[in-house]
Amino acid sequence: MKALAVCPGQPNSLHLTELPKPSLDEIPNGRGVLVRVLRVGVDGTDKEINAAEYGAAPDGYNFLVIGHEGFGQVEAVGPSVTELKPGDFVVATVRRPGTSIYDRIGTSDMTTDDVYFERGINLRHGYLTEYYVDDAEFIVKVPKGLREVGVLLEPLTVVEKGVTQAYEIQRRLRVWRPKKAAVMGAGTIGLLSALVLRLRGLDVTVFGQRPAPYRNSELLREIDARYVSTKTMTVLEGAAQYGPFDVIFEATGFSPIVFDAMRALGKNGALVLSSVTGGDRHVDASSDKINLEFVLGNKVMVGTVNANREYFERGVQDMALAEAEYAGWLGQLLTHPVHGLENFSELLETLTTAKDAIKVYCEVAPLGAPAHRLHQDVDVAAAVSV
Ligand code: BGC
Ligand code: ZN
Repeated sequence: MKALAVCPGQPNSLHLTELPKPSLDEIPNGRGVLVRVLRVGVDGTDKEINAAEYGAAPDGYNFLVIGHEGFGQVEAVGPSVTELKPGDFVVATVRRPGTSIYDRIGTSDMTTDDVYFERGINLRHGYLTEYYVDDAEFIVKVPKGLREVGVLLEPLTVVEKGVTQAYEIQRRLRVWRPKKAAVMGAGTIGLLSALVLRLRGLDVTVFGQRPAPYRNSELLREIDARYVSTKTMTVLEGAAQYGPFDVIFEATGFSPIVFDAMRALGKNGALVLSSVTGGDRHVDASSDKINLEFVLGNKVMVGTVNANREYFERGVQDMALAEAEYAGWLGQLLTHPVHGLENFSELLETLTTAKDAIKVYCEVAPLGAPAHRLHQDVDVAAAVSV
């Protein structure tokens, strides 16, 4: 079968390769799930891996199959799998357990190990291929009514974890009734953060660079979130006008903005940092003011990376909620499909150059017949009414 791989350490090495089709018996205890890949999203991490700034090949290989935002359909399951069946739509988690206590209790997203295993990113092959096999433990079912947007689940889980962590941390306050939220950045993660916070009933202000209106600011309007361009209003002015912010989700990829966010955060507020900034930027920050306001305001700041199974499950619920409240909105994020693994140059080109892209993804195989034709529900209903 075909797969897209890079040679870690060699910039710009993305290429098509051949691998044997995986089989169920690679997974112990009859818990294997064989998945046929349908769609795979790409993001900044893939860009960095292809630039050889990130990522390592699995033991015994000199290449790494990339792709960590998978979406597929179960083709076969092992004898001990009861929770999934052939035909189910699924998304697999990314990180695999290491050895720390957090890994051992099923929360590898909280690992303290220095070396971590992530499918499509570090030391484990990813999903930009035709089939993969994994333990049912790491595979989450997506209802068939969400098949069109299922490829957005993995990026959504990054948001789900960050927001859940904020609520969890805020239990320190005995009572926390957040009303106003800010999101830094209006890219894919910024848009998804705004969505999740709107679904939690918060008044949401999103800060982005580009002057409005443009596609992303219009999308935010559709979910009643406010868009502020930092070209016309600074983060601090925005906080004075629309804050104080009880929660801020940072997703710009630009670390200096963190210091503005720290100041824009309201008393007792929580600031969630999610940008993976591989560079070496330095800034001059008003440290006394930031520190003073953090101390006197009992503020908290938390970093978040990756997501384990519970956040994938929460993400599925929020997708369903989003379809109920803002029907069709998620689908509008799927701006740049690229057909077929063999068009990998186009995939990379779109990822690196399409300025107005929200989600670039590879359509590895067609989604297939509409959901109601896949199952017999319609026929059964007809038969019963006769
Ligand atoms: C992925 C996460 C991963 C992180 C660090 C992100 O792009 O979505 O699952 O943990 O990169 O490798
Ligand atoms: Zn990612």
